[in-house]
Amino acid sequence: MPDPVEPSQLAQLPLDELVACHECDLLMRRPTLAHDEKALCPRCGYELYAHRHNVVNRSLALVLAALLMYVPANFLPIMQLNLLGQASDDTVWSGVVGLFNSGMQGISAVVFLCSMGFPLLKLLCQLFVLLSIRLDIGRSYGLLLYRIYHHMRDWGMLEVYLMGVLVAIVKLSDLAELSLGLGMACFVGLLLVQVWLEVVMSPHQIWVALSGEDPHAGD
Ligand SMILES: [Zn+2]
Repeated sequence: MPDPVEPSQLAQLPLDELVACHECDLLMRRPTLAHDEKALCPRCGYELYAHRHNVVNRSLALVLAALLMYVPANFLPIMQLNLLGQASDDTVWSGVVGLFNSGMQGISAVVFLCSMGFPLLKLLCQLFVLLSIRLDIGRSYGLLLYRIYHHMRDWGMLEVYLMGVLVAIVKLSDLAELSLGLGMACFVGLLLVQVWLEVVMSPHQIWVALSGEDPHAGD
């Protein structure tokens, strides 16, 4: 665990030797981490940063897996609904189109952006950032895109969409015959891969690798 800094020592320490906790603002001396070690805040236990092994390659594999699942998750049926002999396949995309056609253009735009637009843009930003580190090209664009990615994180709300689908399933299951489609499996897979990606793609290591301070940061 890193050492907290006494206020009297503060003036003598160079800024790059200090690190502040995001949660409780405690100021600490920056510890040097070996592979697979992580630094926790001694006051609140927040993970300050971790030094994970082979971050760029593992994250690239996860981003590609997520992109592969993105298309079936949005365009294959989430569920099949059979009501009084009428069967319908519902996909995320058909939901957006249905809202648009029934006069709710505003809501359909929000659903489109939060369930399809932002998640795709987030994945493409991550892909470009990782490729710029891996291939050592366009790091300044990589830095810009990684900043944009952090702003977009709050807008991709797949988990909220999944909650909506689950509520609809519970409500409709009494009224109609419901069966879950392949799209649902891909949708859940996409969510899980994205959570895994958040864990693997340690922001501290990505920032350091993008700024070129430490050429081995992304290893
Ligand atoms: Zn803290």
